[in-house]
This record gives sequence, structure tokens and C-alpha cells, in this order.
Amino acid sequence: MTLFNHLVDVPKLNTFAALPHAFYTRLRTTPLNHPVLLHVNSDVAVLLGLSGQALSSQDFLDVVSGTSPLPGGDTLAAVYSGHQFGQWAGQLGDGRAHLLGEIQGPGGNWELQLKGAGMTPYSRMGDGRAVLRSSIREYLASQAMYGLGIPTTRALSLVSASNPVMRETIETAAVVARVAPSFVRFGSFEHWASKKNPELLRRLSDYVIERFYPECIVESAGAPVFSEDGRPSYSVRTYVRFLEAVVKRTAVLMADWQVVGFCHGVMNTDNMSILGLTLDYGPYGFMDGFDARHVCNHTDTAGRYAWHAQPAVAHWNLYQLANSLLEIAPDTEALRDALDQFEPVFLKAMQQRMMNKLGLVEWKDGDETLVDDLWSLMQANHADFTLTFRQLAHAPGLTSAPAAQIEQDLGATVHGTLIPFVDLFVDREAALAWLGRYRHRIQSQTSQSEPERIQGMLATNPLYILRNHLAQQVIEATQQGDASQISTLMNLLANPFVAQPGMQAYAALPPAWASKLEVSCSS
Ligand code: AMP
Ligand code: MG
Repeated sequence: MTLFNHLVDVPKLNTFAALPHAFYTRLRTTPLNHPVLLHVNSDVAVLLGLSGQALSSQDFLDVVSGTSPLPGGDTLAAVYSGHQFGQWAGQLGDGRAHLLGEIQGPGGNWELQLKGAGMTPYSRMGDGRAVLRSSIREYLASQAMYGLGIPTTRALSLVSASNPVMRETIETAAVVARVAPSFVRFGSFEHWASKKNPELLRRLSDYVIERFYPECIVESAGAPVFSEDGRPSYSVRTYVRFLEAVVKRTAVLMADWQVVGFCHGVMNTDNMSILGLTLDYGPYGFMDGFDARHVCNHTDTAGRYAWHAQPAVAHWNLYQLANSLLEIAPDTEALRDALDQFEPVFLKAMQQRMMNKLGLVEWKDGDETLVDDLWSLMQANHADFTLTFRQLAHAPGLTSAPAAQIEQDLGATVHGTLIPFVDLFVDREAALAWLGRYRHRIQSQTSQSEPERIQGMLATNPLYILRNHLAQQVIEATQQGDASQISTLMNLLANPFVAQPGMQAYAALPPAWASKLEVSCSS
């Protein structure tokens, strides 16, 4: 593996920039005043082929702060449209994101994008900036999702600057450098369909399919067909298979979100990645106490993007994507069949994840009721989402591990007389009754030893989760000049399944003030 000392040395490809100009506007970033590098994710840097030396260079800060273009890159802002909160919003686009270029790193090809580096032709009423508060939240969330094994865009660096930015109050500016194989969204497809431009819709689809879904290409019978520009002309079946693949990835992503209590907050079609990545972290939230109707975005008063609604919203968003593809794949029935795969794929993915979370070797009759009753119990008691599953591994009657081991595995969230799992519920009798049924179910499994089950459950149920109050503490410390807490949390989130000594505060139930935190779209 080659590690480069400067961003200038890393090979670039810029495939998105090679597409027709209608897809984007070439432009420059607008530099910020006195940029300071607050944090670099060295794991992401390695993917890009950057050495430790490169990260401390002035060149690096110049690029990730938007002061200088990426050497060998091609800076642009992409256009897209979308449905926001269920309504057609028309043209949107990268209002404050600049794609700097595509890096050919040892970990694959990665687009490097800055968020907050100035206005673009798509800024509408916005200022092209991002505030430190929301930038820290995006930076931490990218790491949290990665650590949980959930597909996500990554974040390479976090830079703050002295420029004032007007939101509800005056805040300071920041820039996050995001990294993903592609930032193309459902809304990118809706854009060309709404403009009744099948040529460009086909061009965009072919680009995404050739690069990221080549397995969907169905060769036409006989000699390959080429369009006027000499490019291969794909069959309708290719686009249907492409939709099917996106449906499946998105369905699995929804299961991933649901089982860690993640709420995206703004599941508009322009925030849905065509690669099935979690994209655009705004007013997201990981639930503390379980409430299926939990809405993390203070602005979403109707609860459109509540936790329980996310899978159905994703399906609705996929329907919009299918509608767009109809322009180039006029086979309504086949597209509908592809959309219909959402539910079975989602349910199967949920089932697999719930089996892992509960330490079940196979799915048996009655398990669905057992799992549903656990959700109901959690709902009725507003039980902590993360700790309920984490502590279940060592619930009474299910563990013969010594007390010290239990305390360690559970990150000291139980100690003294506290009883794992049971004491997370106000209605202890109901918790004990459910636990009795669960114990009975576990004891019927002979193919897995107790330590195996416990290890498996600890490896799938995180101890550390990016709770709102943890992010808030980091934000406040950083705003007051202490950025060191970013590293502490980043390191924990990189491996949220293994308890770290001395980190009790990060695993503990949220303090009372956490429930008063309000997160809005303002960013
Ligand atoms: P979001 O729902 O936060 O992903 O944003 C929706 C649209 O508004 C996107 O096209 C963003 O680029 C744009 N946008 C959000 N905030 C700003 C801002 N401060 N300046 C310019 N554009 C923005
Ligand atoms: Mg967005």
C-alpha cells in the first residue's frame, strides 16, 4: 500500500466531472477566515492513501478547509431535485457542498466533498455555510454509524473558522470533508425525470450502474447495441434490475437503522443515497428511552419521519425513484415488482438482526410474539433502547459470569444492587414475566453455549451510542476551545461493542437535561 505525503500526489480520476455539464456547475470554494483543523479521522485518511505526515501539512488544511482546490481535482456543485416532507420541492442541489474530486486510494475510489465551503448556484436562500455545532454532529455520526457497521458516508476532517454564521443566534463556521464512493441521490434521478429529459436520466443511470451496480447490466441478445454517442445502450431490464438492487440496499439500511434506534430526521428524497448509504446528517438522533413514535427533528411537527415510519418512508421514496426511472424503463409492472421486494427484504433483515440481538440461533414459531412483546414492554416503560439489549445478555438467570465480568461487559451501567435488564423497566413485574418466557426460549437452544450466546449478543448490541447529550457535551467543550473530547468520543464510537475502562459516563443512562435537548433543521 502506498501512502502519500501530500494530497497532490494521490491519483485522481474525477469521473463525475467527466459527465455532461448539465449535471453540475464548476466553481470555487469561498475560503474561511483562520481555519483550524480540529480533528482528522486517520482511518479514513488511510483509505485515501494519505500518510500521517500529509495530515499535518499546510496543503492538507488548505484543501479540507476550502482555501485551495484539490490538486488534480475538479471542483463542482451537483444539481438535483427532490420531494421534501412528501411534497415536490423542485430543483435543489449542492447548496453548500463542493465536490473536490475523486481520489484513487488504496481503499478504493472516493469522492471528497466539503460541506460548508461557500455558496453555489443551488444555495437558494442559504449562505453556503455550516455551523460548528451541526458539523460536529455530522462528523461524530459518520463515525458512529461506521462503528456500528451501518453503511454511511465517512468524514475525513473537521475544520472550524472564525467567520460568524447567522442562525437562531450567531454561531461560528465549520467545514466537514466528507468521503463516499458517490454522493448521487434519489433526487438526482428525479431531477431529470421532472425535466422530461430521458437522455440525461439515462446518462446518469448508466454512470451509476456501470460504476456501482455492474451486476445489473443485462446484455441484449445478439450484438451489443450502441446509442448515437457510441455508448452502450442498455435494456429496460437493466434499469429494472438497478431499481431492484437499490430497493434491496435501502431495505437493509432501514433494518440497520431500526435496530440501533437511529432516526434520520429528514428522509427527503434528496437525502437518500443511491448507494444505500446513510447520507446528510442533520437533526438525526439515536433514541434514549424507546418510543416507536419518537421524532428527532424538532421541526417535524407532523412526525412524518418518526422512528416507526422510516421503513415506509424509504419505500415511498423508492416509489419516487421508480417513477423517475419509468421515463427510461417503460415497464410499470416490472418496476412495481422491484418495489414489492422492499417489504420481504426489510422483514428478513429485521428478523436476522433481532435473532442476533436476542441470541437466537434460529427463528421459531412464537419468536415473533416474543420480540413484539419486548418492543411493547420497552414502549410501555420508555426503557432505554441501547441498554435494554446490551443488558439482556447478562439478565438474571441467563448468565453464570462473575459479577465483575458482568459489570465490565455492561460498562458499569449496573453495579451494587442494580439488576441488569430488569431495573431498566419501571414495571419490574412485567419485565420479569417477559424475561421468564425469554429464558425458557434460550434454554431450549442446545446448539449454543452460554458464553457463546453472551459473546454474540455483546458483539451485536452496542454499549456506546451517540446519544444527543454526548454530542452536546462535545459541542460545548469544543465551542469553549477544548477539542480533545472529539477524539475521546471518536475512539469509543469506532468500536462501540467493547467496554473501555474509565468510560462509564459514556455508557450511562442520559442525565435529566438530555430530554430537553431540541434538535432542529437549522444547521
Ligand atoms: P437538507 O435537507 O439539509 O439536506 O438541505 C436541503 C437543501 O438545502 C440542500 O439542497 C442543501 O444544499 C440546501 N441547504 C441547506 N442549508 C444550506 C445553507 N446554509 N446554504 C445553502 N444551501 C443550504
Ligand atoms: Mg441534503
